[in-house]
Amino acid sequence: MNQKANEHFAESIPPLYQQTSQQVLENLKSSTKGLDEHQVYERLTAYGRNQFDKVKIKPAYLRFAAQFHNILIYILLGSALITLFLEHWIDALVIGAVVIANAIIGFIQEGKAEQAMNAMRQLLSHKASVIRSGERQTISAELLVPGDIVILEAGDRIPADLRLIESYSLQTQEAILTGESMPVLKQTTPLTKTAILADQSCMGFAGTLVSSGQGKGVVTATGMNSEVGKISHLLLDIEVLETPLVQQMKVFARWLTAMILTIAGLILIYGHFVLQYPFDQMFIAVVGLSVAAIPEGLPAVLTITLAIGVRKMAAQNAIVRRLPAIEAVGTIDVICTDKTGTLTSNEMMVATLRTTNHTFQVTGHGYQPDGDIVLNGVHAALQDHHSLALLVRAGCLCNDAKLSNQNGNWIVEGDPMEGALHALGLKTNLSFIEWQRTDTIPFDAGRRYMATLNHDHQHHTAIYVKGAPEQVIAMCSSQTDASGTAQALDTQFWLEQAHQIAATGQRVLALAWLPTDDSHTVLSDDELQGKLSLLGLVGLIDPPKPEAIAAVKECFEAGIQVKMITGDHGATATAIGHQIGLSNSSKVITGAELDQMDQPTLITEIERCNIFARTTPEHKLRLVTTLQSLNHRVAMTGDGVNDAPALKRAHAGIAMGKKGSDVTKESAELVLVDDNFATIVAAIRQGRTVYDNLKKVISWTLPTNAGEAMTIVVALLAGMTLPITPVQILWINLITAITLGIALAFEPTEANTMKRPPRHHKEALLDAHLTWHMVFVAVIFLSAVFGIFNYAIQAGKTIEYAQTMAMNTLVVLEIFHLFFIRNIHGTSINWQAIKGTPIIWFTVITIMLAQLAITYIPLFHSVFHTEAIQLNDGLLIIMIGVIAFAIMELEKQLRLMIRRVNRLV
Ligand code: ATP
Repeated sequence: MNQKANEHFAESIPPLYQQTSQQVLENLKSSTKGLDEHQVYERLTAYGRNQFDKVKIKPAYLRFAAQFHNILIYILLGSALITLFLEHWIDALVIGAVVIANAIIGFIQEGKAEQAMNAMRQLLSHKASVIRSGERQTISAELLVPGDIVILEAGDRIPADLRLIESYSLQTQEAILTGESMPVLKQTTPLTKTAILADQSCMGFAGTLVSSGQGKGVVTATGMNSEVGKISHLLLDIEVLETPLVQQMKVFARWLTAMILTIAGLILIYGHFVLQYPFDQMFIAVVGLSVAAIPEGLPAVLTITLAIGVRKMAAQNAIVRRLPAIEAVGTIDVICTDKTGTLTSNEMMVATLRTTNHTFQVTGHGYQPDGDIVLNGVHAALQDHHSLALLVRAGCLCNDAKLSNQNGNWIVEGDPMEGALHALGLKTNLSFIEWQRTDTIPFDAGRRYMATLNHDHQHHTAIYVKGAPEQVIAMCSSQTDASGTAQALDTQFWLEQAHQIAATGQRVLALAWLPTDDSHTVLSDDELQGKLSLLGLVGLIDPPKPEAIAAVKECFEAGIQVKMITGDHGATATAIGHQIGLSNSSKVITGAELDQMDQPTLITEIERCNIFARTTPEHKLRLVTTLQSLNHRVAMTGDGVNDAPALKRAHAGIAMGKKGSDVTKESAELVLVDDNFATIVAAIRQGRTVYDNLKKVISWTLPTNAGEAMTIVVALLAGMTLPITPVQILWINLITAITLGIALAFEPTEANTMKRPPRHHKEALLDAHLTWHMVFVAVIFLSAVFGIFNYAIQAGKTIEYAQTMAMNTLVVLEIFHLFFIRNIHGTSINWQAIKGTPIIWFTVITIMLAQLAITYIPLFHSVFHTEAIQLNDGLLIIMIGVIAFAIMELEKQLRLMIRRVNRLV
């Protein structure tokens, strides 16, 4: 592909930036209408996809082998060698099995992490707006070919190298290629001299960002042929699946390992030299103790837990772009969300039209062009209402969207509101094809209006403007009456009308025009101010999403405040606020009021007010910082290019996958595939679940390890017979680590997850409570194991019999401990808790079968020094498990009760 593409461009002399856009189009056998399907197919086959060469994935066996390259494994293998040397074959074999089990866990972890990363990458693939066969379409950027016409808007990442053919105040940020961080102004005129990349002002380069303006370009190079493709090896950043918490735990596990090895060494010396135990016996005991105590699988299981969380979030349409976000979302206590498309469905329909003389209603459904304009219940013909016809025309011309019928469904490419204006145009059967546009002032959230300059074949020329009513009305000096003539502007009347329409929850636009002469081809902002004539208002319905209403309720129950921060009119925002159940939603603060408000006032007002209207991206930034100064943990949504600073500042920046610009997505921690508020709440729920599961994995592993290790330590130090032999401890560790240890990573969300307040972000995983739990569980384990061992000896059983009972008791305790840990925030004694999950029961049954095997199959008796135990003793062991479980549960319920009382006090 590279060869062919290069040949193609080798012919293009002089360089593309010295050719006119027409020449480039001709050379590429394209036109402003773009390529047709056949050309695209041919070029895709010839040049390949618009993507960089993939990094080669290591084969599975190599990845498995790499798991052995780990200091802990070296220690284990060293111990196995010494054990072999001491002729303790079975112990060596079990240590070998522990090593392999660890490698398997590590391998699964890597696989899961990679799958999660791939899912994220796929969902984040870029889209491009193109013109093909004269139609605007959105396609995957990978399918772009040389000759394609690409539409550029503020916030886009340019998907391929382009020769620009249209530019309206287009500026790009090319730091990725040239290192220059200031935006550069782009234009379409060819250069006369040789220029370096940074000076090629009529070219757009793949990977660079459109910081403002609009434009169009023809694709000149894709994939590895593009300028960025040539340096793509510099851009391959490999992300690791890690969060601050997991990193912390990894460091902790390393320290713990070092400490355990030191203690083990000291015990070895003490046992051999002071207590005079034979060296080999002591060595094996100490190896058993170390393997039992070291949480070797813990970091891997934590990563598996994270990977599962990332995948589950992706399945619920929330893509985690930066992994620490998965922890951060669980701590969020304020969500600042925009309205349009997030809380509302963003499937707009024009419902009201207000001209100087009348208020018209529009009937119909969605974007379907079937419906009518009615006045007092009667069809209103456009020829009878000249200003109405002008209003509809302005809506269709001052418009960048495209409405098309695909298999009976009407689909909008571009802004849904503009799509709705086209649908209105189609309902009236007016045609605007003959109108050509020569210039545009693109819509911008700060400016709040858009303007176009249009000419028809009869040399009529007019500027059309649409935007927020206050903005557009302020730019008018007259209003156009029913006959189409200009009369004095009644600002008060129009503002009241806009308020009335907005109060019904409709989004309101004002449309204005300025007839001008045919020679006028370039627009400027200044020439519009105070010169326009107002045509009227358009009200668009955009109902709230039903799932958003439920999600807002869920937030309140979960102790999370919801603040709507919208660019829309205050009255529209209030009406929608009421509909979605935002409490005290009658209080609204507008952007203008915010500008007047000093910081102390805002600090008091911000806690009381849930709706902020007519805000700009700068206001969003101020609101986030103010909330943060009040110690809130803030999630902020955004879609526009200027939202990036607020998103970066928030604890969780959330970008919209559908309508969000590439820049916003890149500065966000989370991207919502479906732009839905309910997805934010689902992500928070999942974030809380992941944290709970990390906590569960740790809370199960550490006390279990402590319990196992202490059994040996206490016996050794007290000079008693070991109640469980080192090889048995190794066995338990092996079998439980690969079953019970991993099962917790798959735990589903607990029922009360969203009924609890958010956790404090400084809450440490390894807090006083977990330390207490470790001691508590270790004491229970020790009492049970030593108790049952002594009971068996007292009953006149052999040491092997007593050890078999003690070993099985330990396993049963671990299983009960697992059931206890599964519900750390609720009760473990109800049907739901006992029913568990298929994974839990699968692991429990596997362990039970393994235990039955080593207890009852004669072959294993000699290997593990076990003996078959009688039924009543087996039942006794299970009873001990039940009692230990009851004690643990009692302690938890008391603790939860004290916490509840404290909260009430
Ligand atoms: P949210 O921030 O909740 O998504 P929003 O979409 O209304 O709300 P903006 O996109 O900033 O916020 O729009 C602010 C106002 O600008 C709108 O209420 C509307 O009056 C006007 N507006 C929005 N889009 C356009 C457009 N394409 N052309 C002209 N005016 C527009």
